[in-house]
Amino acid sequence: MWGEEPRETYMRVHRIELPTPFPVGSVNAYLLAGDPLTLVDTGPKTPEAQRVLAAGIASAGFRIEDIRRILLTHGHVDHSGNAAWLAQRTGAVVYLHAADRGKVGGRRWVASHVKTFFTQAGVPEGFFKSFMDQIQSVDQYLDPLPRPAPLEDGEYLPLGGERMRALHTPGHSAGHVCFYHEEGVLIAGDLLLETVSPNPIVEFVSDGKRTPTLPQYLQSLRRILLLNCETAYPGHGDRMENPSARARELIAHHEQRKETIASLIRRTPKTLAMISEELYPQVGDVDRMLALSEVIGHLDLLAEEKRLTVTRKKGVLFYKIK
Ligand SMILES: [Zn+2]
Ligand SMILES: [Zn+2]
Repeated sequence: MWGEEPRETYMRVHRIELPTPFPVGSVNAYLLAGDPLTLVDTGPKTPEAQRVLAAGIASAGFRIEDIRRILLTHGHVDHSGNAAWLAQRTGAVVYLHAADRGKVGGRRWVASHVKTFFTQAGVPEGFFKSFMDQIQSVDQYLDPLPRPAPLEDGEYLPLGGERMRALHTPGHSAGHVCFYHEEGVLIAGDLLLETVSPNPIVEFVSDGKRTPTLPQYLQSLRRILLLNCETAYPGHGDRMENPSARARELIAHHEQRKETIASLIRRTPKTLAMISEELYPQVGDVDRMLALSEVIGHLDLLAEEKRLTVTRKKGVLFYKIK
């Protein structure tokens, strides 16, 4: 039945590519032309991104003031930084999964959690300060959003006569959500990216315990595979016509990376910092946390498979394959 409909009746998605000051390059916001007029993601709070966003909305035939609903795929600043600014200008309600509320509220990292993590990882002491400085420098690209409306997994979001569903897909971020339209269209956020493997960035729950972000991420990819989507609109880069193939590719990539990491600790116990250094020798301070996140994610997978032993020496953790 749906196959016989002309393509124009499908959800109208306008991609607006916004500049960011970050190494990732540009980020996508999507205007969904329906009732209520909906914007997915907002870009970082820079005059440049705000100007390009306004121009993109105008070229779709609307004004910023017409936006009635703002949906955030997750709380990273490149996606959410303008949300408070837009909410104030439009009166639109901003929706975000509760697990990412801290990130948009201006409380992204708890210093003591980060410090413990670095100590256990065996990272040189100076990195803690440099990391916290980096984090603080990002604050200029967001206005804190104190009370976003919650998005629940499976929640239906009406869009004219059509319906979209929010799907909680944690891993890249604890509160990451994709939006699935019944016609096989997925607004994918940073779950699926064409040219890079999305980072399963380290996250802590309130007591400082780390969440297994990579196992969660892979679970989210498998969940999306079951939908057999035809098209995906990612958070960065062009529209994807075969998102399932990309999801399978990412799963295979992590499987391979996991075995590479296992081979590095087959004989000698190593710290997280040592493994990261071996895998990513050139990495600078900015990307070091990403490298640590990538490696600890794979150690989590090996631990789930009961292939890992962990020993502690003077507060530092050493990992070895059993
Ligand atoms: Zn992100
Ligand atoms: Zn992103």
